[in-house]
Amino acid sequence: MFNSLSDRLTATFKNLRGKGRLSEADVDATIREIRRALLDADVALPVVRAFTGRIRERALSEEVSGALNPGQQVVKIVNDELVGILGGQTRRLNFAKRPPTVIMLAGLQGAGKTTLAGKLAHWLKSEGHRPMLVAADLQRPNAVNQLQIVGERAGAVVFAPEPGNGVGDPIEVATDSIEVAKSKLHDVVIVDTAGRLGIDEELMQQAADIRSAVNPDEVLFVIDAMIGQDAVKTAEAFLDGVDFTGVVLSKLDGDSRGGAALSVAEVTGKPIMFASTGESMKDFEQFHPDRMADRILD
Ligand code: GDP
Repeated sequence: MFNSLSDRLTATFKNLRGKGRLSEADVDATIREIRRALLDADVALPVVRAFTGRIRERALSEEVSGALNPGQQVVKIVNDELVGILGGQTRRLNFAKRPPTVIMLAGLQGAGKTTLAGKLAHWLKSEGHRPMLVAADLQRPNAVNQLQIVGERAGAVVFAPEPGNGVGDPIEVATDSIEVAKSKLHDVVIVDTAGRLGIDEELMQQAADIRSAVNPDEVLFVIDAMIGQDAVKTAEAFLDGVDFTGVVLSKLDGDSRGGAALSVAEVTGKPIMFASTGESMKDFEQFHPDRMADRILD
């Protein structure tokens, strides 16, 4: 991802290399390139404005450090700002003092929640936990089935409403799952919730009600990295409707430039915690802001 952004920045920085000091014209030329590259990477316009504004201010006001030439100095500033927006340090999962830890997933339909639920369970198992998946997406007839398949692939138990009992109440299912997890000694509960293709008041309320009922330790907002400019609108709607504690970027293996990462992190101020990078259970990693920034600037 970000190939185009890094290529352009590298080309711009080449022009700056070897200059004794940066003129305002040099900085503005660089900023124009960064701005264009970010827009091409589908970073939302207000985010581009805020980001380039900070880079410009710092590039003009900071003393060029003795060890760096001006081009390297700008690279460093861009790197610092990228790491800053992307959350600084890797933000680890917050585990409950008294198990089970409850992790709720929210996001649009097709964002990758169910797949992520499996990957998270698979990863938690490898870390020595006993996760349980909970099917609180009762909106789509096939969703429970899909979670069961994912659970099998992850080697994790799935808690779902009994078949034949009608659609079931997702809030009840989520609440019951906590008691079952306690009795069966599952130390992490991962609650998959329903999403629609567009933002939907009723389902947003349902997610908010599940949240109130199970009082999760983490609410992870799963967003498709390919969503581009829509990332801001979607993230704001979920922040407002459900509130979340962290972000998971899915489909980072696609050919998106990944601008959604910058947009969501900047507008919500929430850390990106995990990246989902394919359809297999192991295509999952903790998100490292510094590595992502390196990748952007490489
Ligand atoms: P949900 O509706 O939010 O539960 O989304 P799903 O988990 O059902 O995912 C929707 C589609 O995206 C499925 O076909 C998944 O196989 C696919 N998918 C999910 N995560 C990834 C990913 O990280 N990379 C790729 N390439 N596909 C993914």
